[in-house]
Amino acid sequence: MSFSQLGLCDPLLKSIKEKGYSSPSPIQQEAIPAILIGRDVLAAAQTGTGKTAGFALPVLQRLAAGPKTKANHVRALILTPTRELAAQVETNIREYKTHLRLKSAVVFGGVGINPQMKILRSGVDVLVATPGRLLDLYQQNAVKFEQLEILVLDEADRMLDMGFIHDIKRILKLLPAQRQSLLFSATFADNVMSLAESITRNPIKLAVTPANTTVEKIEQQLVAVDKSKKIPALTSLIKQQKWQQVLVFSRTKHGANRIAAKLESAGLPSAAIHGNKSQGARTAALKAFKDGSIKVLVATDIAARGIDISELPVVINLDLPNTAADYVHRIGRTGRAGAAGQAWSLVSADELDQLKDIERLIQQLIPRVTLDGFQPNQPLAESKLLPPKKIKKPKKAKNTSSEAAGKPQRTGKSLQRDGKSHQRDGKSHKPNNNNPQRNGKSPQRNDNTPQRSGKAADSNSQSRPPRRRRVNPQAKRKAVEA
Ligand code: AMP
Repeated sequence: MSFSQLGLCDPLLKSIKEKGYSSPSPIQQEAIPAILIGRDVLAAAQTGTGKTAGFALPVLQRLAAGPKTKANHVRALILTPTRELAAQVETNIREYKTHLRLKSAVVFGGVGINPQMKILRSGVDVLVATPGRLLDLYQQNAVKFEQLEILVLDEADRMLDMGFIHDIKRILKLLPAQRQSLLFSATFADNVMSLAESITRNPIKLAVTPANTTVEKIEQQLVAVDKSKKIPALTSLIKQQKWQQVLVFSRTKHGANRIAAKLESAGLPSAAIHGNKSQGARTAALKAFKDGSIKVLVATDIAARGIDISELPVVINLDLPNTAADYVHRIGRTGRAGAAGQAWSLVSADELDQLKDIERLIQQLIPRVTLDGFQPNQPLAESKLLPPKKIKKPKKAKNTSSEAAGKPQRTGKSLQRDGKSHQRDGKSHKPNNNNPQRNGKSPQRNDNTPQRSGKAADSNSQSRPPRRRRVNPQAKRKAVEA
């Protein structure tokens, strides 16, 4: 399949060619036609599957056909959990829209708000934002949503994990009810599902398997090592293999600092990246890593989510994540968009349970290799492959309309890696003629004043800023990592 078969316009096809994409990834094949016809979408897709282009390209095409954006208004809002991911998504959007007359911007916390207010003043077609800063900007009347046509929630599961639910609910109240909503999430646990149900209408549900193609392309190895010897083993491994660019995962921020300092003192230029670092320090570390002035970047899971470095050759897990899906996320930092890569894990005897969970999820036993001089005193027990757990796909939304209950919304088995037809009945997505406002050519905008929900969205909302946010201390703690 080619991109032109998906119904994308020439300016976008030109940018895609310039980016060097030859064919659409499975999630792109599914999502692009659905979004182009104005449908809401719930997609189970992880970073590394090409999901950003999957929503960004059709969103840009839809916006290109619309009216001029008024001062301080935005027409498409993309919410992401981390600053790095926000920056990454906006960079992609800027590249995709090169040949279109559309304006994009990114706003996130940790940096000055005034330059962001200035950018918003002339109106922005696509705004990529982290939730907290967006609300701050709204409180200062710097951003208005009456013209909003499309909302994208990227990595919705992470947003909820990081305690953003209250911010998201507040934002939803400010948006016109009449809009297209797209929700992307690696997993669809109950909390994500109930959020999805509250923001989407008759969504088309798409899925690519969690242990996705990325994993298959990656050469995985496991070194059993005593816990106390992990950092010397890591140093020895990097030196032995003469790797020039290595991303190391640490479960904790404190651990990340300590590892980076030890590697540095062993002669390996390194930096740590995590939520306690200032935005400036995070950006500088990422830049140094990309341009080769440091060899090793030590990151926590959340901080690493926005990192997209093409051809990153090696990822090392200095400790295994507690959630098996995070292993897939971590190693997905290499082997991006089908490229080959290596993932190494240094595993101590106490991490056997995490290892079993991971092997069960990816349905393979990770090959074990020994590292000279680091044979463990506490051996890591052998693991056996357990049958896969049932994959949680988006459940049927609580929607009683015949279309919601019928075939076009369902995700069929053929939706997986092969990128083939995704409808159980093999039909293409069709607009719902019973619901012309949500479908058809210009479903989101209608010349009448859009119906809005929530008290803050009334006509006085510009002059009456909403009440200050109440911060749940636990949520705040989690959000610090962002
Ligand atoms: P994402 O999952 O959106 O984070 O994308 C992962 C990486 O894949 C990014 O570096 C994209 O530029 C790249 N990418 C996205 N779509 C394609 C495609 N169709 N062909 C090749 N690379 C792609």
